[in-house]
Order: sequence, then structure tokens, then C-alpha cells
Amino acid sequence: MGVQKMADSGFGKKTAKCPNCSSTSQKDAPCVSSSKTRLIPVLVAADTSDTSSLGEPDSSIPLERKKDQQLIKYKAFAKDVPSKSSNIEKKPSQQQWGRGNVSEVKVPHIRLDDGAAIQEIYTFGKILGKGSFGVVIEAINKETGTKWAIKKVNKEKAGSSAVKLLEQEVNILKSVKHEHIIHLEQVFETPKKMYLVMELCEDGELREILKRKEHLSENETRWIIQSLASAIAYLHNNDIVHRDLKLENIMVKSSFTDANNEMNLNIKVTDFGLAAKKHGGSEAMLQSACGTPTYMAPEVINDHDYSQQCDIWSIGVIMYSLLCGEPPFSASSEEKLFELIRKGELHFSDPVWESISDCAKSVLKQLMKVDPAHRITAKELLDNQWITPTAHKKKFPVKSKKENVDSLDTGNSNSTRYRPLPAGLKGELEKSSVASNQGATAKYSTKPTALPRTKKKP
Ligand code: ADP
Repeated sequence: MGVQKMADSGFGKKTAKCPNCSSTSQKDAPCVSSSKTRLIPVLVAADTSDTSSLGEPDSSIPLERKKDQQLIKYKAFAKDVPSKSSNIEKKPSQQQWGRGNVSEVKVPHIRLDDGAAIQEIYTFGKILGKGSFGVVIEAINKETGTKWAIKKVNKEKAGSSAVKLLEQEVNILKSVKHEHIIHLEQVFETPKKMYLVMELCEDGELREILKRKEHLSENETRWIIQSLASAIAYLHNNDIVHRDLKLENIMVKSSFTDANNEMNLNIKVTDFGLAAKKHGGSEAMLQSACGTPTYMAPEVINDHDYSQQCDIWSIGVIMYSLLCGEPPFSASSEEKLFELIRKGELHFSDPVWESISDCAKSVLKQLMKVDPAHRITAKELLDNQWITPTAHKKKFPVKSKKENVDSLDTGNSNSTRYRPLPAGLKGELEKSSVASNQGATAKYSTKPTALPRTKKKP
């Protein structure tokens, strides 16, 4: 603010995936990787193999979803299926599920000669948006009436590098199961196209909601950051780094406005095209990369790998943007922007910050520590008193392992109000700390309020 902004405050820009380097850049700006500057050194390697399930048994899948899956299987193997789809087969890799004793979450990956069979199963509706490599269309399962979002990618047009990114995304999505991570229901693949059947997020992108509201209240922001922290803690716990967290990649499945006229958003983290699974644990690291103990660096001995911390920084940018409607750093050129980011000085001078608690500002400072080793972790964020105040009191004192929480972190302003998580928004938190929040303060109208979804990419 005050500084000349890059177009659209940095929000309106679409990230273009660079097929050569797996990085992203704004569509109208050069790929970051093509310049000498690298924002965040990434120490992770992308896993393009089918990853094993990290989730729980799929007993929670709604009946209609199960029906959808069964229907596909039926259609795939029944004798009366048109000949075009008669050679549907599962990918061999689908048999390789499971790691250790982790239960499986099977996502059918079905190969077809062409897309005709898909048209038999789904009625395609409006276009929800256009991505870097394909289009996302609303579709209704003819048998069950369930609505889905189907991402359709033309493999030839997208090119082999883009298809690799897509496969990477699919493999990671197949392996995760979390309330605030987009659910991949199934995949269809023809020689020319790939169809990803995903849960539909009817309320669109968080970015669009922010645009309409200009900025969110502290509570509205807290609830979003709770869900986001839960999703990212889950990913990091499973050695997955998202690497492209931003407002555009947070979709809103549903929402309601509570009795205090505050919006409760059920968010889903999407777009795992740049996500990566870290390989090996400390043993592998010590054996393979590090050589003679005499020469070993302390971080190697301690197995400190901060590559996942880039997601935490992004959560900081998201939180700052939600609270004041502007990203924390913006400049007239990419070079200047990078300079500001490297300095990492947060400004709270806009009048909007006057009503924001010191506690929230302290969280922002912890999320946006320039040194990733000093940055709060996703797990620590979940335990932070701004996120889960009751749990914090019980576990007191919970402080970042890497730093003492600064003095700002001890107070809550009067503007801070806490809530129990509504049923639809409960994630991992429910199992642990937030449950103890139940009945804390706010009352909610359970009536869903559909948000007008203005944004429709042509
Ligand atoms: P990108 O290639 O930029 O990652 P996607 O292809 O994943 O984007 O999605 C393109 C657009 O489609 C998004 O910007 C979003 O508006 C819409 N979209 C994607 N996934 C969903 C979904 N599950 N539900 C509703 N809309 C979606």
C-alpha cells in the first residue's frame, strides 16, 4: 500500500505452470525460474509414481459417491456397454495401493478408447473455469444426480510436460484424504484426454469472495486459516509439500452466514500440480547424501529439512490478504517485489489493521519469518492460541519450538471472538483441540446461504 501496485494487487494474476521447471509464473510475466532469482530453494523431489494411500478407510464416502463408483465399475464391465467402452481397464498401478498398514482410499483410474462412455454417465453443464491446461466443467451423474466438477485436459494440446504435472497432481490427490483438501473421485483417461472427476466447489474461488467483500473479519479469517492449517499439517505430516498455496487455489465448497453476519466457509485446497512428495527419511538422507560424518553439517545430523516451510509463508500471505484485502508485498516490478519479500517487513499501517488483534498480527509475523527455520510449523500453527484458544489454555504454555512467541502473542483484543467449528467445517481439528471449544460462544444459523458466484471464466 502506498507503493505502486503490480496489476490487480497481485491477486488477479493467474499462475502459469512452467513445464520446463515445474515452477509457476504469472501469465504475463516471465517464468521465475528463467531469471536468476529463486524465491524459495526447494529441496524436494517430485514423486510421479502412484503414491500409496495416506487416508482412512473410506466408510465416510457418501452413499451417492459409492454408487457413482459402483456404477462406473458396472458400466465398465457389463456386457451391454457399448463396444467403444468395452475395453475399459484399470491401470496396473492401481493394484499397488497401500503402504504399511495404512488403509486404502481407492480412486478408480479408468482407461477408455474415447470419451463417449463418459457422456453416457454424466450430463455436462456449465464451464466452471479454465485452467492452464484444460477446462473444468460442472457435470451431473445421470444415475445418482450427484454434481461433480470434471477437469478435462487435452493431453496432446497440453504437451508431455504438462501431462507429467497433471499425473503428479493425480497421484498426490489419489493418496490424500482430508476434509479441506479437494476430493478426487475418479479419473478417466483416453489416448487423447484425461478427465478428473472432483468434488464440486459451488461457491468458487476464495479469491473471488475476497474481491467482493474487500476484506474479511478476523473471525472469518481465523476459521479459514484453521481449516488451511489443518490441511497443510496433514500434508506435511505425510511428507507432501503443496508449493503453490494461494487464494486462487483455495476453493469454497459451501458457506453460510452465522447469526453475527459472519461468513463460515468450507474451504478445499486444490491444484496439486506443483506439489511434491519428499523422499526418504533421515536414514536415507544420512546414507545417500552426506558422506563422511566429520564433514556433516548440523542440519544434516539433526535431519532438519525446511522445504515444507514455503507453504507456511504462503499461509501468511493468504492470511494477511484476507485481513486487509491486499497482499503483504507488492511493487512495480518483479525485482522490487522480490526485494521486499526477502526483507519480509510486514506493515500494519492501513486503518483496517486497527481492529485486528495483536494476537493475529503476531501469528502473521511467525508465519512470515524470512528464515524458514524460525518460521512456525503447520502443527505449531494449529496449536497457536489465536487458532485454538481453549486448547492453548489447556496445554499452556505452547510455544514455537524454534522461537519464543513474542510479547504480542499474549493478548486478545476485544474484537476477538471464538467459535466451535460448524459440522460441515470440522477437519482434523475436531479430533484434537477444537473439540474442546464446543459451546464456547457464538450461535449459528444453520441455514446455508448460497454465495452468488460471480466469477465465471469464459
Ligand atoms: P489451474 O490449471 O489454473 O490450476 P484448474 O484447471 O484446476 O486451474 O481450474 C480452473 C478453474 O476451474 C479454477 O480457477 C476454478 O475456478 C475452477 N475449478 C477448479 N476446480 C473446481 C472444483 N472442484 N469445483 C468448482 N470449480 C473448480
